[in-house]
Amino acid sequence: MSETWQKRTKLVHGGTRRSQYNEVSEAIFLTQGFVYDSAEAAEARFIKAGADEFIYARYGNPTVAMFEDRIAALEGAEDAFATASGMAAVSGALTSLLRAGDHVVSARALFGSCLYVLEEILTRFGVEVTFVDGTDLEQWRAAIRPGTKAVFFETISNPTLDVVDIRSVAELAHAAGALVLVDNVFATPVFSRAIEQGADVVIYSATKHIDGQGRTLGGVILGTRDFIRGTVEPYMKHTGGSMSPFTAWVMLKGLETIDLRVRAQTASAQAIAEALHGDARLARVIYPGLSSHPQHDLVRAQMGEGGTVLALDLKGGQEAAFRFLNALEIVVISNNLGDAKSIVTHPATTTHQRLPAAQKAALGITPGLVRLSVGLEDCGDLIRDIQNALEAAF
Ligand SMILES: *Cc1c(COP(=O)(O)O)cnc(C)c1O
Repeated sequence: MSETWQKRTKLVHGGTRRSQYNEVSEAIFLTQGFVYDSAEAAEARFIKAGADEFIYARYGNPTVAMFEDRIAALEGAEDAFATASGMAAVSGALTSLLRAGDHVVSARALFGSCLYVLEEILTRFGVEVTFVDGTDLEQWRAAIRPGTKAVFFETISNPTLDVVDIRSVAELAHAAGALVLVDNVFATPVFSRAIEQGADVVIYSATKHIDGQGRTLGGVILGTRDFIRGTVEPYMKHTGGSMSPFTAWVMLKGLETIDLRVRAQTASAQAIAEALHGDARLARVIYPGLSSHPQHDLVRAQMGEGGTVLALDLKGGQEAAFRFLNALEIVVISNNLGDAKSIVTHPATTTHQRLPAAQKAALGITPGLVRLSVGLEDCGDLIRDIQNALEAAF
């Protein structure tokens, strides 16, 4: 692979490893182990495996390595470690780095399982976690202290699409010697420039846009070679959260089309947000690509585009929201996002059901809020489906 290749070329050819058959489409090396030519060769590989030498699929595998190299090339990271799910990536990145007595500052608006890892699991092992409003730089400044080991945030929060200023938070964190870890799912690898903007570690649930067709769970941790091979790999390979070769193959093929898919989905999301903006039945249309988004300038500077997800707040509360969901004919009710199929979610009663009412209110998760992940269907059909369902809801 050449460093001069543009992203679209890297997405198709990056990381390719061909077998002796010179196959065009990447092979699935569905093998747990690898045969050594001799006892001496086995011993040598356990002492130090070469760059393209494998020992056991929990440690690494050629298909998984192809996926890691391709996503690292896209993100502009030195290296990557692929994991069994997005949560294996989030928990693996944090747990491999932290130890008892460390201090972490995290944004409060997090995916439910991320919140569980930070609030319940890390604290159980003696890590101190301070939560802040991720959009408020003063709160970050007040919470980060000399010796803070890491900061963590979702660059765009779920489901209310608040955008955290990577560059500014990274400046505060780096001044204190803290590492910046970001969950970048909503920004997508297509629009991300997180590393150049100051993130040290970028994490994706590959389940979302990287697969993009709702088939398999996966995740990936990206960072410096030192962090990935020195910190993450020893932890992941001994605790068992590695990606399977079959999953890696699905994700590898997903990367070939991700740029086209995400740009098409984003164009539709922008058109839907513009069509609905100002509709009297909606209290809010939240979309980072709308100029009415409170952080629109930051969105432009940080990502350029608004992404594939929007949120609508129906004035009639939960009853109107449920009538809206039930009247949709093309958009399906589910809780994944980034899929080729458009998906609608009612966060208050599903993904964020567990949160106490006060916390939901504080996070802007109102009874009328619905999250819409825009897929690859015809955009006109989607707008008609949404308009018809709004008619039915009121
Ligand atoms: C989905 C998601 C995760 C978890 O990913 P899984 O692949 O489901 O484990 C973590 N963070 C964000 C922001 C997500 O959307």
